[in-house]
Amino acid sequence: MKYYIIFGPPGAGKGTQATPLAERYNLKHISTGELLRGEIAGGTELGKQAKALIDAGSLVPDNIVEGMIAQVFGKYKDVDGFLLDGFPRTLSQAMDLDEMLESRGEEITGVISLMIPDEVVKERIAHRAKCENRADDAREEVVANRIDTYHRQTEPLIDYYRDKGKYHEVDSLGTIAQVGENIRNLVDSLA
Ligand code: AMP
Repeated sequence: MKYYIIFGPPGAGKGTQATPLAERYNLKHISTGELLRGEIAGGTELGKQAKALIDAGSLVPDNIVEGMIAQVFGKYKDVDGFLLDGFPRTLSQAMDLDEMLESRGEEITGVISLMIPDEVVKERIAHRAKCENRADDAREEVVANRIDTYHRQTEPLIDYYRDKGKYHEVDSLGTIAQVGENIRNLVDSLA
């Protein structure tokens, strides 16, 4: 099985790029953000726990997202791998993921890091707020908190994966098609 992580700040284009990428390489796309929004929409206990944190732009506890990931790993057998989007987001999630994979005799194939400056991130999120009606995109202070959370808690993963030789950067400033091509070139080079 292949295990790719699509990585980058909120608004970098992870979700947009993940859908065609997963289709092309027969990967199961797992977006923890989407799974959490599904839990909230379904009014589940987990959704209730997560809602206030998501609305504030903070991270939900590691055990919640790790439980969701483990469930999806166990469920999909007819794929060539998984494309993780929005996970891991903290060092402890990354270490727990490595353990989870090691126990299955597997490892991360590569981290695809979408490179984009904070200013462009803010523009893209403002645009997405209008199209997708995401509560956490609409308020400026929540967006600022998510970007800050990314720099503080998620960016340290860059060194974690770089040290393992698994970290790869892709320019994410072009059109959706151009960025998609950059990503495919990278994935083909890792295969
Ligand atoms: P996203 O759709 O990836 O931008 O995620 C939306 C929100 O869901 C984030 O701002 C967090 O509150 C929460 N979330 C998603 N993935 C994770 C994760 N791996 N760890 C903790 N919180 C997460």
